[in-house]
Amino acid sequence: MKNQYLLGVLETVKRRNPAEPEFIQAVTEVLETLEPVIDARPDLVEANVVERIVEPERQIIFRVPWVDDNGKIQVNRGFRVQFNSAIGPYKGGLRLHPSVYLGIIKFLGFEQIFKNSLTTLPMGGAKGGSDFDPKGKSDNEIMRFCQSFMTELYRHIGHDIDVPAGDIGVGAREIGYMYGQYKKITGESGGILTGKGLTYGGSLVRTEATGYGLCYFTDEMLRANGKSFEGQTVVISGSGNVAIYALQKATELGAKVVAMSDSNGYVYDPNGMDFAAIKQLKEVERKRIKEYVATHPGSTYTEGCSGIWDIKCDIALPCATQNEIDKASAEKLAANGCYAVSEGANMPSTPEAIEVYFANNMLYGPAKAANAGGVATSGLEMSQNSMRYSWTFEEVDAKLRDIMKSIFAACDSAAKEYGMAGNYMAGANIAGFLKVAEAMKAQGCV
Ligand code: NDP
Repeated sequence: MKNQYLLGVLETVKRRNPAEPEFIQAVTEVLETLEPVIDARPDLVEANVVERIVEPERQIIFRVPWVDDNGKIQVNRGFRVQFNSAIGPYKGGLRLHPSVYLGIIKFLGFEQIFKNSLTTLPMGGAKGGSDFDPKGKSDNEIMRFCQSFMTELYRHIGHDIDVPAGDIGVGAREIGYMYGQYKKITGESGGILTGKGLTYGGSLVRTEATGYGLCYFTDEMLRANGKSFEGQTVVISGSGNVAIYALQKATELGAKVVAMSDSNGYVYDPNGMDFAAIKQLKEVERKRIKEYVATHPGSTYTEGCSGIWDIKCDIALPCATQNEIDKASAEKLAANGCYAVSEGANMPSTPEAIEVYFANNMLYGPAKAANAGGVATSGLEMSQNSMRYSWTFEEVDAKLRDIMKSIFAACDSAAKEYGMAGNYMAGANIAGFLKVAEAMKAQGCV
């Protein structure tokens, strides 16, 4: 990167956030790809849009005390980073995982600005969560934690202010407990959270949306390059919400998914992973993925999750967590003939891994475009809540598919316009950025 303005902004970010490597990584990637835009747009430099966009509008950190099943008080830390509201109310998920700290929430919130902008819907960027570990907790402990979390969060959110949703560790159960607590405190029903249950304002397809959307985006990318899912071998990391529905849609589109994982290890099934079995195991029984092999002859389980990238495949869909594909894993994928990586998880590829993709002419679908189907469908849930109306599964699915198509088209054309045809990472960053930048400029110094 040579642009002095961008170099100055990046230096400031590093100085202000020295202990947040994931946030610095996310900002660096975006700023590097914005160089041709900033070179061509002195007005955006004049309005100092980039320095403003890398600084969250608001960061909220709070105590979350809750009582465990032994009657002991436990204390976790809660976060909500309201990053940017230029194009609409703050919107972004809540993550419950022991690795959560401010830097993780800030990287996710920053990415969310551009992702939400790409969806074509009016949503600003935010993210939140806690270092609470849901693993091994009883239902009652989860409920008491969620109630305590919402007892603080409720004062910062609202259907036209900030609308959280799920992420790692937050699914329909947790959203239900949080929604119930919000309603109890405020007496209000409405679209203050998305990912709600279907009996109280949730949208059809929201559960499936990130995984389906990932496959719709990837399908567009493959077709634009003369390929398709048909007959291809796919590896999917993770076995949570995103991974499960990516498995279902990739299989429907004609691919064979041969491996999936959790944070302990991975399963290889040469006959193709069984969607119904994985859904039952992970969503209903909440068991570890290694249990899969007991009912699927011919499948094998290997301890340790990074080995999944050693499996030969045509298309890799990382759907677990950040930085799960490093340089060595990317090199392994390339050496085994993998020609496309499309990201269901947020920032699953390290910068070195991304370099390997480009060096090997692999197709690369970046997270902020490829996994935007989840938040897009959350946006559709908000619309339905405002209308007091529900669309059918087919209606929401068709809208999701159209949105993913237009996201791909926006990435493709922005990349071409700025002389980087085929670089969908640059295309996503540029297209997502420009809409927010124009809105920030129009609204003056706020
Ligand atoms: P879930 O909690 O449903 O599933 C997460 C999966 O990833 C689990 O299989 C989990 O294994 C695995 N995992 C989590 N942390 C690690 C780790 N440190 N190392 C290895 N495996 C890990 O989360 P989601 O499916 O909702 O989210 C997955 C990714 O997709 C995240 O990056 C999230 O930000 C992103 N995303 C999610 C969206 C959504 O709508 N849910 C929308 C857009 C992006 P284990 O059970 O062992 O922890």
